[in-house]
Amino acid sequence: MISVDKALHIIKSFPKEYTFETVELRNALNLVLFEDIFSPINMPPFRQSAMDGYAFRYSENQKFTIVEESKAGDGHNYVLNEGEAVRIFTGALVPDNADTVIMQEHVEREGEIIQIKKMPFQFANIRKVGEQINIGELALKKGTQLNEAAIGFLAGLGITTISVYKTPKVAILVTGNELQKPGTKLELGRIYESNSIMLEAALKSIGVKDIELIRVKDNYNSIKNRIKKTLSTKDILLISGGISVGDYDFVREALLENEVEELFYKVNQKPGKPLWFGKKANTYVFALPGNPASALTCFYIYARPLLKKISGCKNNYLQKVKVISKTVINNSSGKTLFLKAHLEGNSVEVLQGQSSAMLYTYALSNALICVDSETTEIKIGDEVECIKLVL
Ligand code: AMP
Ligand code: MG
Repeated sequence: MISVDKALHIIKSFPKEYTFETVELRNALNLVLFEDIFSPINMPPFRQSAMDGYAFRYSENQKFTIVEESKAGDGHNYVLNEGEAVRIFTGALVPDNADTVIMQEHVEREGEIIQIKKMPFQFANIRKVGEQINIGELALKKGTQLNEAAIGFLAGLGITTISVYKTPKVAILVTGNELQKPGTKLELGRIYESNSIMLEAALKSIGVKDIELIRVKDNYNSIKNRIKKTLSTKDILLISGGISVGDYDFVREALLENEVEELFYKVNQKPGKPLWFGKKANTYVFALPGNPASALTCFYIYARPLLKKISGCKNNYLQKVKVISKTVINNSSGKTLFLKAHLEGNSVEVLQGQSSAMLYTYALSNALICVDSETTEIKIGDEVECIKLVL
């Protein structure tokens, strides 16, 4: 059995290398750039009007004759003489020899003549070529997580495909003879299977899309064969159940038989003690305890950061905060505790029903209080560390 810190430390040393894929920009929301992107064009590509108004050559003149019109999308470059103006609209090409745009609210127009009411400064209201970015300049650097604005920005540079960190392909392998699919009539001695849908949701919330669900009975050969199949095709395998010490817990043996290297087994924590972590080639395996609350806590603390790291994200851990405890907490277990809790403002309360089988409490939680294995008592008003579950 190892400590929580040691287990985290082991996981932190992976992955050793990263892989990338090319995706269409439209499918890249929240993905992380695997390459520096240099601008293929100047942005804006030509001098643009920032206003609806009139473009002219700056002079002492207060009166101009409108000779042409330039609307957005027009490609004609008019040559203006002194005293002449072009009617112009936002985003339209400013004629080369015009240097100023006046907004239409600041002129009085009669027919084709405009009279300036309020002269702008010279060069006003013209977006310069490359004002946002010049051709060849770094647009976004490797490691940038693409938000909506970044996607729009790259599209504005004419980019349609990009290289991103490959999001992991994940299999969720659920074990248990007692498990029945929700939607069917529950038979005596059986329970509805809930870990797969819960883990699937947790994966989706961090952008994992390629998820395969596999259900197997507590049968050594079936478990072994399904593990074998997924190891060669997935980046991460999340196994639920069958990792404890019961007579029908075959997962560890089946993993070892498949030559998955055991990196740790059993962590000094509650819940989630039987957690197993291993690796074969570039596939990582988390064998999570079957108890639903344990499985989810182990996912949050251990699997989630690795999945995010493989996806190229920098902030891989759920946010930790130090707040005031509203509850007395006794810890005589010598284990690190992760307690389902409700955080409000600067204080946190332990919720009733901490059993690792209870998802009900978890569903009402927005935080996990972390109590160090060496801490035996937390009094009301003491500072405690908690992990926020709401982003
Ligand atoms: P195990 O780790 O396989 O010994 O399972 C521990 C407990 O979690 C048992 O009470 C199981 O019935 C329950 N359990 C295991 N897998 C699931 C699952 N996929 N959904 C809901 N409960 C489960
Ligand atoms: Mg089981």
